[in-house]
Amino acid sequence: MISRMRSLCFLAVSLFVAAAAFGQDKPFHVLAFYSTHVEKDHVDFAMQAIPFFEAMAKRDNFEFKATSNWDDLNPIALKQYQVVVWLDEFPSTASQRIAFQNYMEQGGAWLGFHIAGWMDSRETWPWFADFLGTVFYGNSWPPLPATLNIDDPSHPTVQGLPTSLLSPANEWYSWKPDPRQNPDIKVLMTLAPSNYPLGFKDTLAGGDIPVTWINKKYKMLYTNMGHGDKIFADPKQNRFFENALLWLGGRRS
Ligand code: ZN
Repeated sequence: MISRMRSLCFLAVSLFVAAAAFGQDKPFHVLAFYSTHVEKDHVDFAMQAIPFFEAMAKRDNFEFKATSNWDDLNPIALKQYQVVVWLDEFPSTASQRIAFQNYMEQGGAWLGFHIAGWMDSRETWPWFADFLGTVFYGNSWPPLPATLNIDDPSHPTVQGLPTSLLSPANEWYSWKPDPRQNPDIKVLMTLAPSNYPLGFKDTLAGGDIPVTWINKKYKMLYTNMGHGDKIFADPKQNRFFENALLWLGGRRS
């Protein structure tokens, strides 16, 4: 009887361990795209982002691979990955765009940094404009730190963060229309009114300028941070980047 109880206990513990491993630590696979022939500040960001996420992958038990070959944005390669990251660049060919669209519509996840959300006009790629929920409108210059307000402190990606944080020097974008007006978009961080006017050569004068949001129709998160070599200088913001990727990988809900 005792040995039977022991084996039942063993079985229960094994099942618990297996369930915990499945729910918490099941490795997921991330493919990050970057480019080396773009604006230097964007290359600098990518060169810091890659080791940041590699270290995180070791800590949090997932696989992280980075490539500058955007033709890996194809249906066969993407099958192996649960999350795609764009480190300051975007696809340039029709087949790369279609592969990404299909990947997202079939349940893939995306984390986009800074110029990953840039387009010269909606007509360039209308699907992406709907996916992002808006189109680039303007920017600040030179790069400056800015205070960000957290819109919903209960969201898994901002848990553990204060309700506002000073984000390191970045080039900040504005958007048209305001993504907050789109019912599919949930804004997570917004430039605080105290920042305005933001910039000297190019100025964001004021208004509602979200910097981080999700489109509830997809597993996606866009964040405007990503210009230059200061982005990873703030531990609180780094925690957000880590939360965001874990959330997209299914580890936070
Ligand atoms: Zn930039």
